[in-house]
Amino acid sequence: MIVDLHSHTTASDGILTPTDLVKRAVSNQIDILAITDHDTVKGLFEAQQTINEENLPLKLINGVEISTIWKNNEIHVVGLNIDIEHTQLLTLLLSQEQGRINRAIAISNKLAKLHIENAYEQAQQFAKGDIVSRSHFARFLVAKGYVKDIKQAFKKYLGKSGYAYVPSQCCSIVDAINAIHAAGGQAVLAHPSRYDLTLTKLKLLITEFKAAGGDAIEVSQSRQTQDDLQKLAKLANEFELLASQGSDFHDLVNYLDLGKTTPLPGSVTPIWHNWLFN
Ligand code: AMP
Ligand code: MN
Ligand code: MN
Ligand code: MN
Repeated sequence: MIVDLHSHTTASDGILTPTDLVKRAVSNQIDILAITDHDTVKGLFEAQQTINEENLPLKLINGVEISTIWKNNEIHVVGLNIDIEHTQLLTLLLSQEQGRINRAIAISNKLAKLHIENAYEQAQQFAKGDIVSRSHFARFLVAKGYVKDIKQAFKKYLGKSGYAYVPSQCCSIVDAINAIHAAGGQAVLAHPSRYDLTLTKLKLLITEFKAAGGDAIEVSQSRQTQDDLQKLAKLANEFELLASQGSDFHDLVNYLDLGKTTPLPGSVTPIWHNWLFN
């Protein structure tokens, strides 16, 4: 069984529409796919509609990836099996969206000081009316030749040490987990190795995530060594958390293809171990 519990569509900063994403999932022989766009659930409706209309052999999990702030670090919490019409969750996502707009304007103002004009409007065009993220600023900076690729856009302008960096305005880990649970879902700490934390700090993060009711951590993900996977499997067991896996697919350049993560080691309990499908 092929399971991928972390992916993005054009509803946030993925390159495929929800329709194209579910079709790619089917051609990659995925059985269970979660769409987890940044701070929005809007892509899920079209995805499910396509699956129904075309009778695709794919189980879609309603998901979301919520940006949170923890001790000055941007930490992502994935929600799986959420009710995408739940008021508490939608209220939180609305406030996240407003925070993103404020941040995008602040980034644009910083870029304007560097004589890069109208960046917000340009980023909006790349986002095509959906959630604006730094990825859309990056695509604009590449398209206009300010940098050679997306990586450089983050290094020079958008990342933590970049000229136009603005910290994100988002909720706490506790707020994210509470909203996910209120909506009937399970909360997963996304890509724990991507935060550049020392092992001590990472353990503190996982301790607080668990204390707030977190259910699982991602153990198998994109851009990861075997050692890293083993380390995360050990942490999942040490903290008695379930294990998740996901490609975090946005595009084929910066991420793994859908469904291509390394299988979870037998020592961990997969988050889907007790999911029931009808
Ligand atoms: P935001 O949600 O607006 O903070 O934008 C963060 C998004 O930018 C992440 O979800 C990634 O998709 C992308 N991103 C962040 N850092 C990099 C990087 N160094 N290279 C490519 N994409 C990145
Ligand atoms: Mn992204
Ligand atoms: Mn993420
Ligand atoms: Mn992601």
